[in-house]
Amino acid sequence: MGIFAKIAAGEIPSYKCAENDEFYAFLDINPLVKGHTLVIPRREVDYIFDMEDDELARFEVFAKKVAVAIKAAFPCVKVGQAVLGLEVPHAHIHLIPMQSEKDMNFANPKLSLSAEEMQEIASKIYQEFSK
Ligand code: AMP
Repeated sequence: MGIFAKIAAGEIPSYKCAENDEFYAFLDINPLVKGHTLVIPRREVDYIFDMEDDELARFEVFAKKVAVAIKAAFPCVKVGQAVLGLEVPHAHIHLIPMQSEKDMNFANPKLSLSAEEMQEIASKIYQEFSK
């Protein structure tokens, strides 16, 4: 099993932001900004555009709900969405609360947050998602 499948299964710890039977959302460990979240399918699939139409549609609807929760927890202009997948071969959507387009630059230095801060951020998003 790959690292993200293990995270979704609870075998590797993560800062959980949202979940349902099929999908899981957790904080990116090297965030561009506070609230930078990854959304993944629990099942192992590498390339997002290899997903069947129905699954991809449900994935995006789930990501939308997570984005709404992120925006409520971390007021921003909009939540940006990006798909790279160059590092980890398990489909994932990056959701990033943006104050400006600069926040979407993956070449920016990453934030270094304490475990307590990460837990606090994830809990805020989880609370909004659960409302
Ligand atoms: P990419 O595959 O290019 O979208 O990059 C993978 C992303 O996953 C990067 O932003 C990493 O910081 C993030 N990442 C890698 N391992 C973990 C992990 N164990 N927990 C949370 N985020 C991770």
